[in-house]
Order: sequence, then C-alpha cells, then structure tokens
Amino acid sequence: MGSLSVTIRVSEAEHAQSFQKAALPLLEDAQLRKNVRHATDVIQHKRGLVVGETPDWQELRTAGSAIKAHTLRYLDQYLLQFEKACTAAGGHVHWASDADEANRIIGGLVKQYSGNEVIKIKTMTSEEIGLNEALERDGIRAYETDLAEVIVQLGGDKSSHIVAPALHKNRNQVRDIFREKMNLPTLSNDPEELTAAARRYLREKFLRVKIGISGANFLIAETGSVCIVESEGNGRMCLTLPNVLIAIAGIEKIIPRFEDMEIFLQLLPRSATGERMNPYNSLWTGVHKGDGPQHFHVVLLDNGRTGILADPEARQTLYCIRCGACLNTCPVYRQTGGHAYGSSYSGPIGAIVTPQLLQMRQGQSLPYASSLCGACYEVCPVKINIPEVLIHLRGRIVREQKSALDPEALAMKTAALIFGSRTRFEAAQRLGRIAQWPLVSDGWMRPLPGMLGNWTKVRDLRALPQQTFREWWKLRAKLGPAGSGSAPLHAARKLAEDDNSDA
Ligand code: SF4
Repeated sequence: MGSLSVTIRVSEAEHAQSFQKAALPLLEDAQLRKNVRHATDVIQHKRGLVVGETPDWQELRTAGSAIKAHTLRYLDQYLLQFEKACTAAGGHVHWASDADEANRIIGGLVKQYSGNEVIKIKTMTSEEIGLNEALERDGIRAYETDLAEVIVQLGGDKSSHIVAPALHKNRNQVRDIFREKMNLPTLSNDPEELTAAARRYLREKFLRVKIGISGANFLIAETGSVCIVESEGNGRMCLTLPNVLIAIAGIEKIIPRFEDMEIFLQLLPRSATGERMNPYNSLWTGVHKGDGPQHFHVVLLDNGRTGILADPEARQTLYCIRCGACLNTCPVYRQTGGHAYGSSYSGPIGAIVTPQLLQMRQGQSLPYASSLCGACYEVCPVKINIPEVLIHLRGRIVREQKSALDPEALAMKTAALIFGSRTRFEAAQRLGRIAQWPLVSDGWMRPLPGMLGNWTKVRDLRALPQQTFREWWKLRAKLGPAGSGSAPLHAARKLAEDDNSDA
C-alpha cells in the first residue's frame, strides 16, 4: 500500500473549481439556501435534544476520541487482525491502494459472479472512488437504494451532505424528479406518497438483483465483522437478500473490539440524525450457510489515508465517523451547501479530508472555506479539532505551494520583519503616516489601489493616527507638573524613561 505509482482520486475534486468560485452561483440560489438552512436547523435541533439528555456525553466523546487515537497508532496490527478474523469466518479481504484498484477489484468481483447490476447501500467511500461511473464503464448498472441517494441518482445530481445527500432538495423538487423518472405524472408532494413510490421502485430491485454493495460504518478487528447503521431498512435488504455482498471501506474504519461499539453506537446516531439509536444496526461476520449472502468480500481502501496517518498534526482527520454534525453547524456550509466543496466530502470535514487525500496537490482553496469559529470542534463526537487542522493545512499550503515571490508571502515576510523590532515598527508607523496622506479623507482611508482595493471594497479602514498612544502618553508625562505625587504620572514618567533608554 502507499506505493509511488498510486493515482489518488476523490470523486471529481481534482478538476473542481476553487471553493470561492464554486460558491458564488450557489449563494445566489435562494431556494437551495432555504432548503439547506431548514434541513440543517431541523437536524441540529434534534441533535441538541438527544445530546442534552445524555449526562455522560463529554465522557463518551473523550472515549470515542481515545479509541480512534489508539487504533490509528496500531492500525497495521488491527487491519491484519481484521483480515484474519474475516477470512476465518468465510469472508475474503482485498487491499486497494487507490481508487482505480478498488474499482478494478469490485468490477472484477461482479463479473466473477456473472452480474451486470448491483444494489447499493449509501456509501461515501464508493462516491469517493467514483464506483458507479467505473461500474457503468464495465457495463454494470448500479442502483442506489437509500432514499436520498435515489433522489440524487435519478435527478442526475450530486450529493451535498455526507448523511443527507439530497438535503438541498425540497418535497416539490423530489416530486418532480419522481414524476419524470418513475413515470408517475399524478404523484403529489405528500411524503407518504413519495416514499410509497420509492418503495415500489426499490422493492423490485431488492428482489431481482443478486449482488449487493455496501460501505461500512465500522470494521471490528476482533471479530472480522462489518457494521452498518441506517434508518430506512434499505441497508438490511441489501445485506440479506443478495447472494453476494461486497463491502468497501477506508482503512480508518477499523475499531479494535466488539465492546467499542457501545461507545460509537451512542455517539453516531445522536450526532448524525438526532436519534438515540439507529432504527437498523446490522453486523455482518463472514458467511453462514443458508442465511444471507453466500459470498462476502471486503475491500480495504487506502487512497491517500496512509499519507494523512503520517502527519502527526493532521492524523486526527482519520478519527471521523462521518456523522455530518460539523456540516450542520458550520456557518459556511449552511450558506453554500455541499456542492461548493467540489468533492463527495463537504463541510468542515471535507475542507480537511479532501486536500489531504489528494496530497495537497488539489483542493487548496478548501482549508480557507472556514471562519475558524470552532463550532465544528464543539459538536464533533470524536473531538476532531478541525480548526487546528485547518490552520495546519493553511500553513502547509503556504510553505509547500506558494513561491517565495508570491505577493502574500512577501507581504507576510515584510510584516514579520517590521513586527520583530520595535525600532523598525516605529519607523514604519512614521513612514506610514507620511505615505498615507493622499489616501486619507476625514480620518478614513479612501479605496486603496491595486490588490489592496479588495480589502477596502468591503471594509472601512481608519487612517493611521497622527500620534500613537505611547507618543501621546510620553508627551503628557513630560508636560505634567514636576514633583506631582499622582501614581499615573509616575508611571508615565517611568514609561518615558524606559522608552528613552530603549531608544
Ligand atoms: S469531523 Fe466529526 S462532526 Fe464532522 S463528520 Fe466527522 S465525526 Fe462528524
């Protein structure tokens, strides 16, 4: 794994526009913003209620974070343990270093079992590697079965949220997609009618298609089990009805022991959908004669994860359990929705995971898609300090990507030089006061020329005052009555003396 010849892809992020450019048209889409705001408000409210009633929530977060940190430290051992246990139970484990290799393995398995169509449980990892498109190129049809994914797939759209992919669509928009794609011209926007239509559409596929593809919320090293949690029951159908089950999972999905599930099955549903427990929790261990799929394969995917693991300051990115809570609370995501991130991973976690998976070659605008307000860290069930990682990545971008002649880099170097010495700082203040006069009007700066104009276009900027506080204070101290006993005056005189001796 992690050889030099790997080609890492994360959905279409490699060719995506910068976040700033992609966000502009989305900010003008009032309907989309309304849908995103409403949906994230509802989920956040529900999350608040179920987290509030859990007295040991902070302890659970600490435990979840500690398990993840421990697992990553011994990841190689736990992965091998998982492989051994899964194989012993009748499963097959495959290792994929990148997206292309994972797609080749899965396409090969589908052909090996003479399939030309598959049913899928919602999996972010398959979106990451572009599995549906790769299968289509091999003549294999993939049917999504999660309701939101069905909406996205039938609408020819892209997922905009890692838990609720169609959160940017409202009922009327869903009705229109179903009317057209399911040939139901009289369908109303009543939620019951819409779900009944989806059920009819999906049932036929559940009963016909013989190969299922899933992701994994957790891989349990101790037992070789795959755990999938979901709310609709489509996952249970995909896990039990087909003859062949193929699970694709990032290597960071490993947890050491079965009993660790106790922590994560409390953290995940509360954070993801505001539920105390997911309606369906499925655990799959190998094959069982006469019961469920008779062929079970797990594809373990690297695709840049070992690179993240190697960076101690960003490694916590791999703790993520894909709950989506950081998206719902993020003031930036709530304005733009997920499409602006140009990747299957959106929101704060997308802003750190996509550029790192892509080895910082693409997606450099994403770490800047944050106000660093810290709301994502507050809600993260495994305590990923996303703002800390964002700042670390911004530092890497500046160090690794920008030339020494980049105007911003030059400006920062100059600022460091000036702020590093009091003499230079005071000289710069004096120079600034003289240089600014053609640009000052009534104590405020007029719009600045060139690149600096971007700053004054949207902000008011005060002109440098003619006297600094220290200069004013020094003068006042000098003018004060000699021998006065007032304490402030003594302090001012001392300051003036210090200043003189510094100079
Ligand atoms: S970073 Fe934390 S809050 Fe965001 S999706 Fe991952 S686990 Fe959830």
